[in-house]
Amino acid sequence: MVEQVMPSSRAPFTAQQIAGIGMTSQRTRDRLVKRLFEKGIRDERVLAAIKQLPRHLFMDEAMASRAYEDTALPIGHGQTISQPYIVARMTEALIAGNLPKKVLEVGTGSAYQAAVLGQLVASVYTVERIRALFEKSQQLLKRLAYKNIHASYSDGTLGLSQRAPFDAIIVTAACNQIPEALCEQLAPGGRMVIPVGDTNNTQSLLLITRDQTGFQSEVLDLVKFVPFLAGCT
Ligand code: SAH
Repeated sequence: MVEQVMPSSRAPFTAQQIAGIGMTSQRTRDRLVKRLFEKGIRDERVLAAIKQLPRHLFMDEAMASRAYEDTALPIGHGQTISQPYIVARMTEALIAGNLPKKVLEVGTGSAYQAAVLGQLVASVYTVERIRALFEKSQQLLKRLAYKNIHASYSDGTLGLSQRAPFDAIIVTAACNQIPEALCEQLAPGGRMVIPVGDTNNTQSLLLITRDQTGFQSEVLDLVKFVPFLAGCT
């Protein structure tokens, strides 16, 4: 059972790690997972990853008491940690079918989404354009002993050409247009999940699939993300 849920990437947290990082809220996490199931999330692997992850560590202490509510919360610098339902929905769409081995995330933010992916796939590359958020998330990923998540301080408009192609790409900020580099860096057979549309409004969460003939697109949901911005700061 455990093997099925944690296919390739990382062992569950050890007792020592759990003691060290204050994973004391298993019951509230179980409730969150139940809620996500009720809202339609069915992938056991995704539910197990969320059940295991201490989301309260990915935000400031002042917010931590709300960590297991199904809501987006501020993480500073005008950014947010995504709503757990949206994280689950995007992850489910990304890993449906063949489990991708190498995933690119654009928009590390708190690194929560990256950590969910890190529980499930062999390698995660995640990029962030705000230095302070990059540094904070890198420290946390180190503290949680992730060896398979590689964080970079860079502009996701360009993708991450030195690690391309990717089996899957997930973008966690809203774009007006899909950056061309991301399409180029998606492997044939690959999947990309990306919110596209007006950032003052709701956006369409798109699932883009690449096959031998080109790209297909499907709307998964309506969502509201912070804007995707070019350049680093
Ligand atoms: N996945 C994050 C969501 C953070 S909000 C989480 O789980 O917490 C979206 C993030 O995308 C912000 O931190 C923002 O700075 C970042 N972002 C926006 N445009 C970007 C770009 N061009 N390159 C890299 N990161 C970007």
